[in-house]
Amino acid sequence: MYSSGLIKIVLEYLCPPRCLICGQGLPTVVNNKLLQSYICSDCERKFDSHSLVPQNQATICDKCGEIFQPRTKEDRTCLICRVAPLFPDHLRSLYTYHQENNELLLFKFKYFNKFNLALPLANLISSQINQVFHTTNWDLIIPIPSAPNLLKKRGYNHTYLLAKAVAKELNITSSVNILVSKRERAAQTLLSPEQRSQNMQDAYKISPAGKEKILNKKILLIDDMLTTGATINSASQLLIANQVQSVDVLTLFRSSHFSKHRVKAILNS
Ligand SMILES: [Zn+2]
Ligand SMILES: [Zn+2]
Repeated sequence: MYSSGLIKIVLEYLCPPRCLICGQGLPTVVNNKLLQSYICSDCERKFDSHSLVPQNQATICDKCGEIFQPRTKEDRTCLICRVAPLFPDHLRSLYTYHQENNELLLFKFKYFNKFNLALPLANLISSQINQVFHTTNWDLIIPIPSAPNLLKKRGYNHTYLLAKAVAKELNITSSVNILVSKRERAAQTLLSPEQRSQNMQDAYKISPAGKEKILNKKILLIDDMLTTGATINSASQLLIANQVQSVDVLTLFRSSHFSKHRVKAILNS
């Protein structure tokens, strides 16, 4: 009888694993230790950490996670959040989205059946989430649901795969049956910032069985990308209206224009 480790080594020798983003071969054994890697170091280096190290007395807004210059020592939220606060208690992102580096990854994960990217992406999230929120004390992890028409087209729910993998690593329950889409809608990526906000109005509902499960619970919502905040704000508002204890939101990527979109929305309102 061969051990599973030995079989794995033989299999990886015969068909070496490749980076899920660029396709280059990955090392499998380093210092006699088996490595379980999915993304090569070149591709991983292209992920740009979002706002983790503010400089020159700047700080991170407690609410939205953007870097800002506080006016006093007590200032904990940025001006945009003071004028138009977001619904989530805390909104954080792991990486700043750069079209040239990250578009291919998100496209592969969302549209090209690369659902096995959920695991490496969840690894990136679970290894940094404590640094980002200073806690992992949630009762429930919920993915932002796709609209039924978009889900049908894609064939799989990429945010659920991501949330499920993160929840497993953090040993927290995840559920796809609580926050559900109410109706068909256009893909946010095809819309202008103003249209995105309209598209997300009344987009979700809480399932009858879900209402009890979220009562007084600390929720972490997970999404792949933050652009204008319309999606996460709409989902958080609904959860709060259904009496959760708190809602934090983590997105894998965040547009560097997020604050600009918010300012524009305030000026247009
Ligand atoms: Zn690569
Ligand atoms: Zn803020």
